[in-house]
Amino acid sequence: MQKNCLRWPAERLRGWWSVPAGRALLWLAIVAASVLEGHAQSIGPVPTVSATLLRPAAVFDGQNLHPGWVVLVENDKITAVGPVAEVALPPGGRPLDLPGLTLLPGLIEGHSHLLLHPYNETSWNDQVLLESQALRVARATVHAQRTLLAGFTTARDLGSEGAGYADVGLKQAIDKGIIPGPRLLVATRALVATGSYGPKLATDLDVPQGAQEADGVGGIVRAVREQIGKGADLIKVYADYRWGPNGTAQPTFSQDELTLIVQTARSAGRGVVAHASTPEGMRRATLAGVETIEHGDEGTPEIFRLMKQRGVALCPTVAAGDATSQYKGWKKGKEPQPPRIQQKHLSMQAALKAGVALAMGGDVGVFAHGDNAREMEQLVLDYGLTPLQVLRQATSGNARIFHLADRGSIRPGLLADLVAVAGDPTQDVRAVRNVQLVMKGGVLYRQP
Ligand SMILES: [Zn+2]
Repeated sequence: MQKNCLRWPAERLRGWWSVPAGRALLWLAIVAASVLEGHAQSIGPVPTVSATLLRPAAVFDGQNLHPGWVVLVENDKITAVGPVAEVALPPGGRPLDLPGLTLLPGLIEGHSHLLLHPYNETSWNDQVLLESQALRVARATVHAQRTLLAGFTTARDLGSEGAGYADVGLKQAIDKGIIPGPRLLVATRALVATGSYGPKLATDLDVPQGAQEADGVGGIVRAVREQIGKGADLIKVYADYRWGPNGTAQPTFSQDELTLIVQTARSAGRGVVAHASTPEGMRRATLAGVETIEHGDEGTPEIFRLMKQRGVALCPTVAAGDATSQYKGWKKGKEPQPPRIQQKHLSMQAALKAGVALAMGGDVGVFAHGDNAREMEQLVLDYGLTPLQVLRQATSGNARIFHLADRGSIRPGLLADLVAVAGDPTQDVRAVRNVQLVMKGGVLYRQP
């Protein structure tokens, strides 16, 4: 049966070839196939020659803007940077002129969920309960590409939200060059205290949760080690969640549990990040020794002083609350801010006053992947940070907070992860949306 099947197409093709109309159809198929193949090649990554001298209008090196500087890339690294007269192009290298563009270190997204898509398309509950892992992964490959092409060459992906260890596979597919995407730091399943997270349906139904439930000494140690064993680069814990009376946010894990999570992860060389919005959740997470606190919406001056003192950074995710408030009907710019956004402004003022280090991360996935710049724009336009502050956060700042010594700045020896945007983003942060060139590890994924 199988042999007959194999012989059938050749016989059928010979039959078609014998009549003129059939021949024309076959030629059309051959031409279409070759055009499609050529097209596939032209949109793939373009390896650079061994040395490329990038000549933009200016270089933002992760700290400051330098008009007239150029950057030399050899293989996957930056090998020289400085004024045009001081950097020579090695023999056989090629210059790449980028007139009117500002060259930046590849941007670093601090809080993404590649396995989620915007909640105004499909609610979080339905994504976790109704979408297959295959569907979610297929979407995530597109999300990864959009993130990279938006200039974000690294992303800290903070939880698969019910998609198990799919983020580990996604990271492997990117690293192997199977799909384009940012370099990923993945948190895998994330940890929640039993009963605190969702989805929640009828009380007599046990439904799959958006994160791994773990409690007590034995349960927590085992869960942290399991996630690390399966590929977690860091551990994410929900230090509080909306499980209080009337759906208010309340702390979840005890101080001892949080401390044990941090100790167990740290002994395996991993840091811990905490989702926390309540002062008590933030306090416990800070005292436990987490590296960053995500959201921090109800942070008080006292809590931010403690974070500053303990060297804990805040990733405020202002864009997430902005997006979900609009999904709930807020007409931004036309209506007064809802209480949640007013509270966010108060907490951000307190964080800035206390001098807490800020990581740049928007909780992208709540809103569309590729729209990562939304957080940077809002930090400037809604929260009063300067474009330079936000650019530093998204590059050298995030690299420092996430312990990524090989990126985040334009310096000899660092990875050639580079982005060129039209205009000067140190003057108008919205320029980061106008991405003209994306290079990751010396490979061009987008060029003018
Ligand atoms: Zn998140």
